[in-house]
Amino acid sequence: MVFHVMLIPTLGCPSNCSYCWSSEEDSPVMSIETIKEVVTWLKDFRDDQVTFTFHGGEPLLAGADFYREALPLLAEGASHLKPAFALQTNLWKMTPELASILAEYNIPIGSSLDGPKELNDLQRGEGYYDKTMRGYEIARDNGLDVRFICTFTAQSVKFKEEIFNFFLENGLTLKLHPALPSLRDDSSNEWVLDSEEYGNLLIFLLDKYLENMGKIEVMNIDHLCKGVFTRRGTVCTYVDCMDSTFAVGPDGSIYPCYRFVGMPEYVMGSVYDHPSMDDLSRSDAWKLMHQFKDYVDQECRGCPYIDFCRGGCPYNAIAPNNGELKGVDPHCTAYKMIFKEITDRINQDFMGSPNMAMNPFQSEPAKAAKPGIMSLIFRKM
Ligand code: SF4
Ligand code: SF4
Repeated sequence: MVFHVMLIPTLGCPSNCSYCWSSEEDSPVMSIETIKEVVTWLKDFRDDQVTFTFHGGEPLLAGADFYREALPLLAEGASHLKPAFALQTNLWKMTPELASILAEYNIPIGSSLDGPKELNDLQRGEGYYDKTMRGYEIARDNGLDVRFICTFTAQSVKFKEEIFNFFLENGLTLKLHPALPSLRDDSSNEWVLDSEEYGNLLIFLLDKYLENMGKIEVMNIDHLCKGVFTRRGTVCTYVDCMDSTFAVGPDGSIYPCYRFVGMPEYVMGSVYDHPSMDDLSRSDAWKLMHQFKDYVDQECRGCPYIDFCRGGCPYNAIAPNNGELKGVDPHCTAYKMIFKEITDRINQDFMGSPNMAMNPFQSEPAKAAKPGIMSLIFRKM
């Protein structure tokens, strides 16, 4: 089973993007003491292989000394869990010193870039593009693998063609992220991507991906296709994340996911108390996450995609309702659109006809044939 511990060294971030809801100025930085407590907490917590992802805020604000100490502590202290590492950063604070420390542990990097410079800086802020690209070059020169997450907002989705071409022409891997509403305030809501637009965007990217097979990697499409084909989600959004993902905030508080960090009502415990799973299960946040799971079993039981969707992301479901559980992930419409599209295309590829009877994958009669999808699925499996 996947076991994921997100470490949030700080909620601070120097970039303050227009639609971001998670940067807090003057946020404290995690101490090495807290990392030592993480190691002690995990000694008897569970046996599954762990991935530690440094996330933020901006995790590189913690500085080179933090990573020089934290990485060996985690690698050796949690060696019984065969730890892997990852880091999500805007790369502004990347230095050759930091890059060489991260390269020692072969840490893959996820960064954020929303497309060509003008478009990116319009929604992320003046100067963002150049600072990120500067960090990207340092990371690349030190042998680090960098993949970009592109946030599509209600504004930037109008330029989806330009954005796709930018990633294609620059040889960059693309992972799409729809702009989300916030649990904290409604400052980011004008940027939020509508679910149907998100669905259309995913279908557009599927087409573009197939047209440009071998020239670009679109991670979401790979994950979605693999999920439909194997009938199991392959990323957290499409599995029950509640028992496998935890996040540790700068002060050692434990949350269900990085998206909740900094909100006291979602604290499940503290690494300083070395809680067991049973201890965490008594927290309100744990109960809310499990209520979501039960809710999905009930609400989505008639949905043909439930096995590889699992109601989507619980944060997305909770965020628009002030922390109350009133529905599944509001991107349900988008998920249904893309799952149907992929299902229909698999059917077409398998059966060679859009309207074969007795087809186990069939959701409803398919439309005119589109480019084959099986080569994409097999390429990634
Ligand atoms: S709450 Fe959402 S983002 Fe966080 S681990 Fe779960 S599915 Fe992933
Ligand atoms: S597509 Fe919608 S109805 Fe189906 S499992 Fe996902 S959230 Fe539930």
